[in-house]
Amino acid sequence: MNGFSGWLRQFTAKLSAGLRNFMMGRYGTDRLNMVILSVGLVASLLSVILRAPVMDLVLFILSYGMMFWAIFRALSRNTYKRYQENRKFLQLVGRIKDREHRYFDCPKCRQMVRVPRGKGKISITCPRCREKFVKKT
Ligand SMILES: [Zn+2]
Repeated sequence: MNGFSGWLRQFTAKLSAGLRNFMMGRYGTDRLNMVILSVGLVASLLSVILRAPVMDLVLFILSYGMMFWAIFRALSRNTYKRYQENRKFLQLVGRIKDREHRYFDCPKCRQMVRVPRGKGKISITCPRCREKFVKKT
C-alpha cells in the first residue's frame, strides 16, 4: 500500500511538473476567459434545456466555439495580444458599469474621452489633439 501511495505521489508530482512545463510561456487564464467559459457553459446548458430544433444546435455550436476559444487563449504563446484583449474587455465592462460618465472617441485621433453624464449638449476638446466636437451627454 505504501508503495502505491509513494508511486501515486511521484506520479502526481511528475504530472504537475509536466503541466507547469507545458504551460510555460503560455498565457493561462484571465477574466475574459472566465466570461467566455461561462457563456459557453450557459449556452451548453440552454442547448440541453431548450428543445427547439434549430436553437439548440446553434447553442451547441456556440458552447463548443466558446470553449475552444477559451482553450486557445489559455494555451496561446502570444501573451501580449491576449493581455491586450483582456485589457480592452475590462475597459468595456468599466464603461458599461460607469453610470456617471459617457465615453466618446475623438473623431480625429480616436482618443477616448470621458465626460460627465446629463450635462446636455456640450463641446468637448480632445485632450490629445485639441480637436473640438459637440456631443449630447
Ligand atoms: Zn483627438
